[in-house]
Amino acid sequence: AAVASDSPTIFDKIINKEIPATIVYEDDKVLAFRDINPQAPTHILLIPKVRDGLTGLSKAEERHCEILGHLLYTAKVVAKQEGLEEGFRIVINDGPNGCQSVYHIHVHLIGGRQMNWPPG
Ligand code: 5GP
Repeated sequence: AAVASDSPTIFDKIINKEIPATIVYEDDKVLAFRDINPQAPTHILLIPKVRDGLTGLSKAEERHCEILGHLLYTAKVVAKQEGLEEGFRIVINDGPNGCQSVYHIHVHLIGGRQMNWPPG
């Protein structure tokens, strides 16, 4: 089981292009790529290129406000790029109860089908 450590994760290998990923957006601070196990027709993960202690949202400090805003704004840009005019869902899983499995903060952008609420 994954633990909430500050050690490198599989996402560092994706950032460093050591393992392949389908990258859909990239700038100097953020990388967005398709989830390997998609839960909807569009399922993209947005991550900061430098984790800076941000293993999960619960570890956020005030210095992270800029990157957190950048991640969320980029989710909107990518949603438009993906043609999700009918809507989409943003998810950030945190910790064991949140089903977080990779301890490098990531925003899920999920769309292309009708979502249900509340989630299980
Ligand atoms: P979490 O459960 O931590 O919120 O989400 C982690 C996500 O990362 C999962 O949806 C999982 O499918 C995805 N994932 C895990 N390993 C890889 C990988 O090597 N490549 C890609 N593209 N996605 C991955």
